[in-house]
Amino acid sequence: MKLDSFAEIINACADSGKSFPQIVAESNTENFGIAPADAYTRMRAIWRTMLDSVKNYDPADRSASGLSGGDGGKMDAYAVDGAPLCGDYLADVMACALKTAESNACMKRIAAAPTAGACGVLPAVLLPLYRRGLLTEDDAIDALFVSAGIGSVIAERASMSGAEAGCQAEIGAASAMAAGTLVYIRKGSPAQIAAAAGIALQNLMGLVCDPVAGLVEVPCVKRNAAGAVNACAAADMALAGITSRIPPDQIVDAMGAVGRRLDESLRETGRGGLAATPEGKRIAQEFYK
Ligand code: SF4
Repeated sequence: MKLDSFAEIINACADSGKSFPQIVAESNTENFGIAPADAYTRMRAIWRTMLDSVKNYDPADRSASGLSGGDGGKMDAYAVDGAPLCGDYLADVMACALKTAESNACMKRIAAAPTAGACGVLPAVLLPLYRRGLLTEDDAIDALFVSAGIGSVIAERASMSGAEAGCQAEIGAASAMAAGTLVYIRKGSPAQIAAAAGIALQNLMGLVCDPVAGLVEVPCVKRNAAGAVNACAAADMALAGITSRIPPDQIVDAMGAVGRRLDESLRETGRGGLAATPEGKRIAQEFYK
């Protein structure tokens, strides 16, 4: 089946008795001719890249612009000494998001999920569970097929490109993928997976793409942390039985429609939003002189 509708995936799960990731993996085979074993091998490689991008983080690294670096290390230190308001798990989530996004800004290896700009969101919600022994590698790989299915619905119905539909299509999509994946890990139903994805996406509806100096750094790095925390909130709401009043497929459609109406200056051109502030312009001038 074509993975372009949450409603259809939920129905397919109900009709076949198969899980959300099984339906996604089988559709992958059907649509792209990728043998199931190959798909799992590729997903394992993606998972290990996510692990490595956090493991290889160096708080001393700085991006070429000097705008990014060190924040993941600060978050780690704060988590140890500062009694974070959000608690231990969310502090770790924010640290992992910052580390992965900073690594991207520093040109280190990351897994685009779904894009390089939003690479920190998905690993950020998974790695802290893995490190606490609450998620095995095999379960993480299985769960990544849930992420892939959610991403596919968003790509098919709307967009996953900041240049096309704003940051809602990058950080928003990553947040939706992470939210649904968390629900799957916590044994939520396919409908709850879709609800979490929809809630996460609606929370970031309208988010513009406004990278300062056209670099994927400001506000991108911190938005990864925000997208990850939003995913956790959406997952917990869905697991609590809270549903979205607007069906998830319609939320994705609305995101696409909003994206098409966004002014060009707010779609990765580096000419609107934070990029157009006096400080944003000064940074750009300094960087390109
Ligand atoms: S602001 Fe633009 S470039 Fe940065 S993460 Fe969002 S979509 Fe990507």
